[in-house]
Amino acid sequence: MDSDFPQLPERLLLGPGPSNVPARVLEALSRPLLGHLDPAFLALMNEIQELLRSVFETANRLTIPVSGTGSAGMEAALVNFVGPGDPILVGAHGVFGGRIADCAQRCGGEVTTVRAPFGEPLDDAQMARAAEQCRPKIVAVVHAETSTGVLQPLEPIRRICDRYDSLLLVDCVTSLAGHSVGIDRHRVDIAYSGTQKCLSCPPGLAPVTVSDKARECLVERCQSWYLDLGMVASYWGQERTYHHTAPISMNYALREALAIVVEEGLEARWERHRMHHRALVAGVEALGLTMHVDPQFRLHPLNTIRVPQGVDDARLRSQLLNQFDLEIGGGLGELKGKVWRVGLMGENSRPQPLLYFLHALEKSLKDQGFQATPGAGVRAAGEVLLG
Ligand code: PLP
Repeated sequence: MDSDFPQLPERLLLGPGPSNVPARVLEALSRPLLGHLDPAFLALMNEIQELLRSVFETANRLTIPVSGTGSAGMEAALVNFVGPGDPILVGAHGVFGGRIADCAQRCGGEVTTVRAPFGEPLDDAQMARAAEQCRPKIVAVVHAETSTGVLQPLEPIRRICDRYDSLLLVDCVTSLAGHSVGIDRHRVDIAYSGTQKCLSCPPGLAPVTVSDKARECLVERCQSWYLDLGMVASYWGQERTYHHTAPISMNYALREALAIVVEEGLEARWERHRMHHRALVAGVEALGLTMHVDPQFRLHPLNTIRVPQGVDDARLRSQLLNQFDLEIGGGLGELKGKVWRVGLMGENSRPQPLLYFLHALEKSLKDQGFQATPGAGVRAAGEVLLG
């Protein structure tokens, strides 16, 4: 019998994630299912761990994909290291930093939160003062704040950790494979990511990496059974002790997505994200729009563009979706209604999606009476791309 699975639209996903997935990754999803202790699957698990170490730029032995989306990575990163009364310093310069603080509190941590305006990185001096007061066991920050478009410099946070021998915990959900995360270079102790952003894989796994130093600080009895990294590591390590059934097909997809990243080369991939980001900025500015973040702190995979006066945010986004099959994101938290979030992540950090977006944006702005020089966005972006 033919499937009556509903017809789905094919969208160009230029929001904050998920991003579009290459055919090789989709094909990997359809490979024959194996058991989670099958020798062929165990070999694939080893390969995934090696590939993840390359992409995280780390030699950490404990580097695995946790089952679940990026939020499972966040929970695993906190629930395994934060116990009742532990002093935790969270730098929150957006929605996702706020979630780390919330999660650390739920683990019983004594949480100090330093906030920054949405669109700016953390204030180093404020972070240093807070650390002096609370002497944190862990300092946690978001590297790429998807809610604001800011890339948080890690060096000053590392220096603070050195002063108090704190563990450094970093959310790399939107930076992994789009910017250098330099886990070993920055001596990041605990990091997590997601699959659906610059790795161009469907959502469903959360790459996590943990330093040997952090492994010595695992809480005595993790409150979460499912995300207990000690137990999960026994399955991914030598022992191969069954813990939970691995999401087999998602691991196939991740293997393929990581292989594509490594084939391209990390530096080439970061440079590609930088180049298309620069072209996007040139394009939107030529249309008369303004970026929300100062140039030195801008993320390359996720761009926040201010919604101009007189333009209806939701109407423009729904025109892009319905007329152009193109998804972009609206603002989150205090930026709701104030910015658009445009992702050029992984596969989508390419000339075609970018130029198509600029064309669609110009047309949708024009339909709301916003005057832009016809073709100016595409032309300006093209100049950057052609050098
Ligand atoms: N952290 C950041 C920076 C994110 O952008 C996201 C998702 O967009 C998450 C955490 C949560 O990931 P997920 O939605 O995959 O659970």
